[in-house]
Amino acid sequence: MNKLRSEELEERVYDLIGIGFGPSNLALAVAIREDAESASVKPKSFLFLESKEAFAWHPDMLVDSARTRSSFMKDLVTLRNPDSRFSFLVYLQESGRLVDFVNLRKFFPSRAEFNDYYRWAAEQVQDLVSYGSRVTAIEAVEEAGGRVQLLRIRYQRLKDGSTFSCLTRNLVYATGGCPKFPPGVSTTDDGRVFHSQNFLSQLCANFPDDRATHQFLVVGSGQSAAEIFQYLYKHYPNADVTATLRRFAYQPANESHFANTIFHPEMTDFLYDLPKADRKRLIAEHYDTIYSAVDLDLLAEIYRELFERRVIGNEQIRICSMLELRRIELLENGQVRAEFFNLVKRSTEYWNADGIILATGFRRNGIPPLLESLTGYLQQDHQGSFEVDRSYRISAADGFAPQIFLQGFCESTHGLSDTLLSVLPVRAKEILDALDGDSVAVGTSTSQQSQIPGMSSPHPDWRLSLRRGS
Ligand SMILES: Cc1cc2nc3c(=O)[nH]c(=O)nc-3n(C[C@H](O)[C@H](O)[C@H](O)COP(=O)(O)OP(=O)(O)OC[C@H]3O[C@@H](n4cnc5c(N)ncnc54)[C@H](O)[C@@H]3O)c2cc1C
Repeated sequence: MNKLRSEELEERVYDLIGIGFGPSNLALAVAIREDAESASVKPKSFLFLESKEAFAWHPDMLVDSARTRSSFMKDLVTLRNPDSRFSFLVYLQESGRLVDFVNLRKFFPSRAEFNDYYRWAAEQVQDLVSYGSRVTAIEAVEEAGGRVQLLRIRYQRLKDGSTFSCLTRNLVYATGGCPKFPPGVSTTDDGRVFHSQNFLSQLCANFPDDRATHQFLVVGSGQSAAEIFQYLYKHYPNADVTATLRRFAYQPANESHFANTIFHPEMTDFLYDLPKADRKRLIAEHYDTIYSAVDLDLLAEIYRELFERRVIGNEQIRICSMLELRRIELLENGQVRAEFFNLVKRSTEYWNADGIILATGFRRNGIPPLLESLTGYLQQDHQGSFEVDRSYRISAADGFAPQIFLQGFCESTHGLSDTLLSVLPVRAKEILDALDGDSVAVGTSTSQQSQIPGMSSPHPDWRLSLRRGS
């Protein structure tokens, strides 16, 4: 709670501020620009605050030729507006690579190329963004009688530490997830233990000699863990690299056609409509499409590498399964000791290493840290998450006027696409429409209902049949 102070009256007031400028808010900025160009909407003031100095999509995981896991058509616009000047195909044409890309015959561009596409799009909306600006606090500005019309956003310029604030009528929160760690484990300040989120920069800073005989441990069984394992044995040829998995083996991502329909935009309506328990079950049934799931091609490459090393008696790299990381201890000789619980032998074992990389995922559930200050005004469910309507808007108490939208924090209500690139263009438009007062009616998505080829069912579309309860 924060009364408007006189010295702050000069603060600029925006109609909408976006926190974070990754793909989610970039898609929103592009939708704003397209709306403005269509001249059908009244002008509003927008600002996006991003802590990085320039646009970058997971820059510390831009390893070698890592591929996107979504089709290039799941760009910033195509699923909503295939005519858009912000599409991946227009980017390719302007870059002079359209025909060559077509000749690649691949739906999944490299992450480096998609990052470059995002940068190209971000340059066209850069007047809406303040880079190098880390938001440090969000405060409700209380008026007499306790009503709240505005939020104060405090942010810090990273280059000189100077602090600023501005006011907004509405907010879109899209900061991405926070690194997740096993209980009792965290990163270390000396750079010997770090999260995959900072992989390349920490590796270069702390292990600059790629010919050294370092010992590395990689913890995790998902795509990032597998990519890091491969990167280390390729780029540190003299290193000893161990991948540790809690499960028995790396599992392939389920990329099959029918499972993949869970990411179709119209599934957001379908899932949001379901009773909570059914939704939870359906989402959990499809976890293997994204969580702890590795591309089959990458698994084949790693398996072949291990096999070929066995042929020549090279034992520098290995995968050790059924190990649960419990604790990490810094040793005086400059190494780190990891304590694992062996889930088969039911006993503790220790591994020493020069560096440990925690590819243990991201946390997006619960209350996002910067919104904790507003919990008194916002409604929460029984699990302590915010109540969110179909338009991604947090339900607020009477007298609290700012609309707060979440991008990437609604998986439990809106489905598995929420943390991915799959619905970015559609979601951006739904949020803009809701801002203008045109909320998405439940069960009437802006996208078309699609049919699954070859599926025989009493109803032409099995999802519609489910929705009707048959
Ligand atoms: C290595 C990797 C690869 C992936 N590949 C795919 C893929 O191929 N396909 C797919 O569908 N999904 C993929 N994902 C999932 C990923 O979540 C999405 O690709 C996408 O990044 C989500 O976008 P976002 O804007 O919501 O979040 P993010 O991309 O995480 O962006 C959030 C932004 O907010 C900024 N920020 C955070 N806090 C603050 C603050 N306090 N102040 C100001 N700015 C702040 C961050 O700097 C960041 O730029 C991948 C994830 C990872 C980690």
